[in-house]
Amino acid sequence: MDFLGSIVFLCLFSMGFCQESMNINHLDPDLLPRPLIIEFSESRLKNMSDDIAIHCTSWRVAVEANNLSPWKTIPKECADYVKDYMLGRSYNVDLEKVSKESGIYAKSLQLKGDGMDAWVFDIDETLISNLPYYSDHGYGSEFFNNVQFDKWILEGAAPAIKPSLKLYEEVLSLGLKIILLTGRNENKRNVTITNLKHAGYHKWDKLILRQNDREKSAAAFKSEKRKEITEEGFRILGNSGDQWSDLVGTSMATRSFKLSNPMYHIP
Ligand SMILES: [Mg+2]
Repeated sequence: MDFLGSIVFLCLFSMGFCQESMNINHLDPDLLPRPLIIEFSESRLKNMSDDIAIHCTSWRVAVEANNLSPWKTIPKECADYVKDYMLGRSYNVDLEKVSKESGIYAKSLQLKGDGMDAWVFDIDETLISNLPYYSDHGYGSEFFNNVQFDKWILEGAAPAIKPSLKLYEEVLSLGLKIILLTGRNENKRNVTITNLKHAGYHKWDKLILRQNDREKSAAAFKSEKRKEITEEGFRILGNSGDQWSDLVGTSMATRSFKLSNPMYHIP
C-alpha cells in the first residue's frame, strides 16, 4: 500500500468509526467492548480483599492457638483487619464468650471454704484495655515503644474490659480469692491500683508486679510467682490472661482461659 492508499484507508476507517459512535446509543451496552479495568474491578478486588481477610483470620487463629513463633508486630497487610476486629463486634463477642465460659466453670467449682481457693487474673488486655493507646499506634503494626507506652500507663486511664469485670465480680461473689499477677513493673503499683479502681475493680487479695528482672520471660516470671502462691497454700483453680505466657509454664491453674489479643505478643 503506497502513501496515498494509506491516507484513503485511514479516512475510510475514521468514517466507519464515527458512524459506529453515532449509533452507540442504540447498542446493547453489554455487547460493547469494555476496558479491562471494568472487568477486573469489583469482583476481583473483592476476591483480593477476601484473600487478605482469610489470610489474616488464619494468622489470628494461629496467634490465639499459640502456634506462631515469637512475633514483634502484626503482619503489615493485616493492619486494617486487626483494626476492624478490635473496633468491630468480633473482639467483644470473643471476650464475652471467654467470660461466660469462665463463669460457668467458676460456678461449677466445689470450693473448700478455707479461703485458699484462688483465681489469678492478668491485668493488661485482661481486666483493663490499652486499646486507646494501640489505636494511636497502628493496632500492633508499630514496634512496641516502652517509653510511650509507659506514658500512657501513667495516665491511669485504661478502661475496664466489661466482660472481664462481670467475671471478676462473679468470681468474687463465689468466695474465691483474687490474685492479680501482672508484667507491669513494681514502680507502676500506685497508678495500677488507681486505674483498676477507676475501672471498677475494688477488691483483691494480692497484687503481684515485676521487679527489675526483665531478663526473665513473662512465662518464667509468672510460673515462679504461681509457684510461690501455691506454696502459701492457695489452690489456683482458674487463670485468665490475654497472653499464653500468662497461662503456661509450671504451677498452672486447674483451668486457664485465654482472652483474645491479636495486637501484641509477650513471650
Ligand atoms: Mg495482658
